[in-house]
Amino acid sequence: MNTVTLNNGVEMPQIGYGVFQVSPAECERCVSDALSVGYRMIDTAQAYHNEEGVGNAVRKSGISRQEIFLVSKVWISNYGYEKAKTSIDESLRKLQTHYIDLMLLHQPFCDRYGAYRALEEAYKEGKLRAIGVSNFYPDHFIDIASNMEIVPAVNQVETHVFDQQTEPQKIMEEFGTRIMSWGPLAEGRNNFFTNPILAEIGHKYSKSVAQVALRWLIQRGVITIPKSAHIERMQQNIDIFDFTLDEGEMATIATLDTGKSLFFDHHDAETTRMFMGWR
Ligand code: NAP
Repeated sequence: MNTVTLNNGVEMPQIGYGVFQVSPAECERCVSDALSVGYRMIDTAQAYHNEEGVGNAVRKSGISRQEIFLVSKVWISNYGYEKAKTSIDESLRKLQTHYIDLMLLHQPFCDRYGAYRALEEAYKEGKLRAIGVSNFYPDHFIDIASNMEIVPAVNQVETHVFDQQTEPQKIMEEFGTRIMSWGPLAEGRNNFFTNPILAEIGHKYSKSVAQVALRWLIQRGVITIPKSAHIERMQQNIDIFDFTLDEGEMATIATLDTGKSLFFDHHDAETTRMFMGWR
């Protein structure tokens, strides 16, 4: 499995398994399946309410903790220095581990500066091996990366063929921050799985639409975390290291970009109102 080196020297798998919308009851089985087919990075969050399931699967896997890269995220209801600090300890307890490999601030709302200071402190104490942010688009990203002591190692943002984040990726790279894609399969929206351009390219390599789209992210240097509850799809989604898209194919896929979110725009007042309801 490919790895990338973060701005603090920590090595991270470039592809992992995400557990958003995996129920707490199903999570342990899903993560056990993902580990059994070869995933070594798991992406969870306080807001997914399934950190315990991840922790159980890791503990029971028999795989040494050092071989698994755990990612979690602090939710906005835990923002502010004190609450974030307490919540990091709670995530450690639920994940049944002494350290989390990468902890992110989940959203750019509420007291994110206080919360980020708690991440910095936990990083210095060795509770977190790397820290970063999620859903911080260029305005919020430049602000936090310029003002905090520790530059985010990663910024996890919606990134897929229909919303490619090309310019934001360049800005992140100026700061030495890695882009990490959530929703790499667009959650199937916009007829993703039957897209004719991706299907045609896939036909050439005997690969699925999902595999072509994930391979395209990997070749752009993006870290990614496809989710599936089905073991055969989990397996398929990491079977992408035996083919290479050529320059023409990369350029053709680039034409699918709409530059727009398929979910919600973080700059829309209604989005901010929605998040204020989830504090
Ligand atoms: P996604 O990975 O783009 O898509 C998941 C959907 O695709 C599921 O419906 C899954 O169905 C289906 N699928 C997966 N592999 C497939 C395949 N090979 N063929 C056909 N269908 C396939 O969506 P996501 O879960 O939103 O994003 C991935 C991860 O990113 C999340 O799990 C989470 O860890 C993270 N995330 C983070 C944020 C954030 O704000 N930071 C937001 C959203 C997601 P089945 O499960 O039925 O197979």
